[in-house]
Amino acid sequence: MVGSAGDVTAFRGEILDFTGDPATLGDAAHRHFPDGLLVVRNGCVAALGPAMEILASVPADAVVTDYRGKLIVPGFVDTHVHYAQTDIIASYGAQLLEWLERYTFPVEACFGDPDHAREVAEFFLDELLRNGTTTAMVFATTHRTSVDAIFEAANARALRLIAGKVLMDRNVPASVRDSADSGYADSKALIARWHGRDRLAYAVTPRFAPTSTERQLELCGRLLDEHPGIFLQSHVAENRGEVAWVAELYPWSRSYLDVYDHYGLLRPRAVYAHCIHLDARDRQRMAATGAAMSFCATSNLFLGSGLFDARAAHDAGVRVGLGTDVGGGTSLSMLRTLDESYKVCQLAGQTLSPFRAFYLATLGGAAALYFDDRIGSFAIGKEADFVVLDPTATPLLARRMARTTTLAEKLFAFMILGDDRAVHATHVLGAPAHRRTSV
Ligand SMILES: [Zn+2]
Repeated sequence: MVGSAGDVTAFRGEILDFTGDPATLGDAAHRHFPDGLLVVRNGCVAALGPAMEILASVPADAVVTDYRGKLIVPGFVDTHVHYAQTDIIASYGAQLLEWLERYTFPVEACFGDPDHAREVAEFFLDELLRNGTTTAMVFATTHRTSVDAIFEAANARALRLIAGKVLMDRNVPASVRDSADSGYADSKALIARWHGRDRLAYAVTPRFAPTSTERQLELCGRLLDEHPGIFLQSHVAENRGEVAWVAELYPWSRSYLDVYDHYGLLRPRAVYAHCIHLDARDRQRMAATGAAMSFCATSNLFLGSGLFDARAAHDAGVRVGLGTDVGGGTSLSMLRTLDESYKVCQLAGQTLSPFRAFYLATLGGAAALYFDDRIGSFAIGKEADFVVLDPTATPLLARRMARTTTLAEKLFAFMILGDDRAVHATHVLGAPAHRRTSV
């Protein structure tokens, strides 16, 4: 028996997860149970296998939720997103640097107001859950209140979430600017308050090299050294104009990435969004230091930034996760993000198999965040965050699904045609956190 009835729940349906990267391991990378059972005890995975084999081990009075006809996969992991930009998604006509000036800084300036920050944080996290995303690495704003708001809202939903206060002490309006010293002190206070509390973790968050002084980047390195286990999130090599600006601001640097390297900001648990305009040496440094890339397809297309080189990242041995990068990104849906990731790879003369796509959205993202010992698959003992996908969610999806004969075809239909409507339910630590009600 896997536990007493009171703390055991089970979920029956088609189940898929990954034990490694399909790009390396091929078919051995996934586990698939057409009629499977996922058993959860105290919020963690207690058993997984064919329903007919393990049903007998479940206490007779435990609740077994019947998701037959649906596909259960681990909760999606979004490795790069800005909750404060929720309200500027779908804003017209700019590339990165103009986008920041015209849309981002004005909207982020409002997050000194705790009521506003709270309202946006609540909406944002409900949207994540509606889209099947159960873990995210999130930029707040320069204001401490913006960090408190997102962590309070995440904790109320028992989410495993990483967030941090944006550090920007130059080249931005005063309404979103801090100083090297105040940014350091505020970050320290927020780390003490939030890091390691329940499922929450803190990320030191310099927006990007152009908006921090060298002193501020130096202090980011100090924060990381002083608090082992905390994270870092930033942006690198997104846009050519940005790359040229960094070369002017840091004339001594070999490359944009080299600026971060100089201050000790390449290390495990450091996640860099975009990583488009890098060279081979940059990728080698990321692999050698354990830093991760966040591939943000919808944002890269929407802002006209460029095409992420997924093959080069993989060949170099760099950890890669997927990011929605809202509001530069155009959807909080990981399924929409997989669709655009596939197209980016096509434009780069590469391919993204449906298995690798779902790996990146789950275990790959968890590994990019060094959380793969806790989430990202249904290995025994892991936290039971999962999504239930409905292959009949829309008439077109149902029609296409009816013609599929393999799991790969089914996954591909989900990633090309699916969106939040395909998310039938989202569970956090085994408990229902979202259930789709309207058709
Ligand atoms: Zn971003």
